[in-house]
Amino acid sequence: MTTRALAENDDDSDYMLPLLHTNKKLKTSVNTSTDYSDSTRKNMYLDTVNRKNLDFDFEKICCVTLSPSNVYCCLTCGKYFQGRSVNSPCFAHSINDNHHIFISFSNLKVYCLPENYEIKTSLDDIKFQINPKYSEVDVNLLQSGKLGTGTDLDGTEYTQSVIGMNNIKGNDYTNVILQALIHIPKIRDFFLLKDHSEESNELLKRFSIIVKKMYSLKLFRNHVSPHEILQCIDVMSKKKFTIGTKGMPNDFLLWFVNTLNSDTKIFSSSLQGKLEISTSIKGKDEVIVKRQKFWELNLKLPPVSVLKKEKPLQTSLYTLLEPYTNSTDIIVSETQTTRYKITKFPEYLVLNFNRFMDFNLNIPLDLKERNKSIVEFPFNLEFNNGEVKYKLISNVVHYEMNNQSNWKIQMNLNRKWYEIDNLQITEKEKEFLFLNETCLQIWRRVK
Ligand SMILES: [Zn+2]
Repeated sequence: MTTRALAENDDDSDYMLPLLHTNKKLKTSVNTSTDYSDSTRKNMYLDTVNRKNLDFDFEKICCVTLSPSNVYCCLTCGKYFQGRSVNSPCFAHSINDNHHIFISFSNLKVYCLPENYEIKTSLDDIKFQINPKYSEVDVNLLQSGKLGTGTDLDGTEYTQSVIGMNNIKGNDYTNVILQALIHIPKIRDFFLLKDHSEESNELLKRFSIIVKKMYSLKLFRNHVSPHEILQCIDVMSKKKFTIGTKGMPNDFLLWFVNTLNSDTKIFSSSLQGKLEISTSIKGKDEVIVKRQKFWELNLKLPPVSVLKKEKPLQTSLYTLLEPYTNSTDIIVSETQTTRYKITKFPEYLVLNFNRFMDFNLNIPLDLKERNKSIVEFPFNLEFNNGEVKYKLISNVVHYEMNNQSNWKIQMNLNRKWYEIDNLQITEKEKEFLFLNETCLQIWRRVK
């Protein structure tokens, strides 16, 4: 079998010539022996591996059968095929296209086809692209705030985790949330250190992989495509968040953390706080006290009706936070007042600024009517007279372009502020960040 397959390939192949130097040499080797020495086997066809064609960000399904099981990647052209047996698409591809080196996505073993033997070679850089792994030492370095420098296949240097994400179609709103979550240190460390490859929750598994890719110093190209995780989000959200349709970052964030919260407590232990809500009804002495967990604090921007046809109003973050910090009664209706008190401050505080809602009239606003108020914010936030302190780590902003909503994220990484707009990365002066339409912020508790 081995002899026949090799001889056939040899007869009609120009492609193999450079690999084995001369046609004559190949024929000789085929004719004299099919039992190659280990070293010949080891190196055969390895120089057909073309890293520039390899992209492991896509869903691991066979391009012929669309099946997700038993899928291999051809390391010459980068396509995914099923199987290794004689009738498989993988086998057919090796014969038809004369491509020979395949890696299994399930166990990362490398095979030579059509001969069908395992190649005991490392190809560690390729395996790392598929399944990056990190040690405590790597994570300790990140915790010290030091980001490494990687170099992609084109020789372009990039700062670790300062990586753009492809906007496949309308998924900038999911990109900003994935970026924000990936850059929360506690969440980052958890996913970098834990092997989720056997995880039954597919979303958790795919999130784990994208976190690991984002911190890789060995990326073949200096961006990551969220394709694989978005496919899973599409299915798990029953098309609520589907590729090709724009959505709201905050809706996606809440769906994402709630969906994963049943399988991992990392999101709730990082982001959830507790709130005490006291409600008083006019004419009654009774105060109803409710305690509830929160993922985020919703901040009400100044009413949009006041702003119409005027310059955007400027407000400050401390003003917007007053309902949560002032211990004063908020008038909910003519007969009802409510008072909020934060009883547990989360490790990472999420603030949501809804620009698409008029809270006075309780009506949603469209793109043109949205609340464009400018929120002036500090970079250090204090609660309870300085007992609790936070530092801003990321800021999601909205902008209008081509008559639609777009989102980008600004993050404090490596002691600099970067703005990441899908694939575009710009260093920003922090003094100007508040000029954008802030939609969502994440703060890290430092005290
Ligand atoms: Zn191929």
